Amino acid sequence: MDEPAIKRPRTTGPTVHFKAMQLSWTSLALVGIDNHGKLSMLRISPSMGHTLDVNLALRHLLFLLEYCMVTGYDWWDILLHVQPAMVQSLVERLHEEYTRQKAALQQVLSTRILAMKASLCKLSPCTVTLVCDYHAKLFLIAISSTLKSLLRPHILNTPDKSPGDRLTEICAKITDVDIDKVMINLKTEEFVLDMNTLQALQQLLQWVGDFVLYLLASLPNQGAPLRPGHSFLRDGTSLGMLRELMVVIRIWGLLKPSCLPVYTATSDTQDSMSLLFRLLTKLWICCRDEGPTSEPDETLVDECCLLPSQLLIPSLDWLPVSDGLVSRLQPKQPLRLHFGKAPILPGSATTLQLDGLIRATGQPKIDHLRRLHLGAHPTEECKACTRCGCVTMLKSPNKTTAVKQWEQRWIKNCLCGGLWRRMPLSCP
Ligand SMILES: [Zn+2]
Ligand SMILES: [Zn+2]
Ligand SMILES: [Zn+2]
Repeated sequence: MDEPAIKRPRTTGPTVHFKAMQLSWTSLALVGIDNHGKLSMLRISPSMGHTLDVNLALRHLLFLLEYCMVTGYDWWDILLHVQPAMVQSLVERLHEEYTRQKAALQQVLSTRILAMKASLCKLSPCTVTLVCDYHAKLFLIAISSTLKSLLRPHILNTPDKSPGDRLTEICAKITDVDIDKVMINLKTEEFVLDMNTLQALQQLLQWVGDFVLYLLASLPNQGAPLRPGHSFLRDGTSLGMLRELMVVIRIWGLLKPSCLPVYTATSDTQDSMSLLFRLLTKLWICCRDEGPTSEPDETLVDECCLLPSQLLIPSLDWLPVSDGLVSRLQPKQPLRLHFGKAPILPGSATTLQLDGLIRATGQPKIDHLRRLHLGAHPTEECKACTRCGCVTMLKSPNKTTAVKQWEQRWIKNCLCGGLWRRMPLSCP
């Protein structure tokens, strides 16, 4: 054990002994309640106090992370032992192990590994901007699978593939930069949804539209210091997913124009979706899995440079600064906390760096999972993720089944796997 917190001299005060103790899943943390009702959490070193060679220590942590990835156990106690200098190599080696697995298993683990990487990256100032990217990737995967699950096969044919799979296949095959030419290859009757559902999806569709615009507008800055979203620019899988969603949104927009993402354009006649789809396709072709990779050509970069003069670039609401404790536990001093009181902690190096990049302190401005604005003084009760800081309303303002389905995903855990805590209502 490397935590001297409970070793107190016997002469002072009443004796303290633990009444109940419990080890965490991987035995790297011990929680105990003492006879005064105080709850203590102790960090237990994986080597039981023996000094390990760095490489051996890394391998040990990696093994435990993999164990949690496969079993589904929470890995918070492993994070207690990760030093900032270990983060990068742990993320890389975790990724290597993952790519070595069979495709079917990779599919199953695909979101858990993202959540794991996000929580690791949070521990080091060098990787903290990547947390937003992993989080956005989790969000994108969730939106994509939810929206695709809404498509229904036409009654007359019993297809061997779901409409969602066929959409993916067709979008991968038809590399045309013209959104309408990709669209005509699809059976549009599979996309018919009722009008209320389409309207209720608008905020999610808006996020997709905003995210595409944000990414393309940031392409010319590629060489600049790491900004959130950077890793998407060379990620063929995610860009392909966004491209598919643009096609779906285009079709839904034909059924109900008011569900389309709203863009603020300088010209009334501009077809913004078609412009963005063209640029997105060009960028996707540079890095998709199916073809040779290349650098984005100069015309594409030039066209992306022009975007801010054609469209208002949205400021994305990235993750708020989280007041989660794990990243502050690295200095090995004991920490005293009170139930129901927010800890007053010196900002760690990681938080400071994040502050420089992203706003978001104080009250949440947006429901991160519903993409609804909460207003300056939110009157709705919210819950926040204890791990990533994501905020969402406690009660659903929605009535349509499709959106209820979306919300069901987050009842127990956040997108990142973290647990929820209720947020106190702010007084204006
Ligand atoms: Zn987010
Ligand atoms: Zn979270
Ligand atoms: Zn979020």
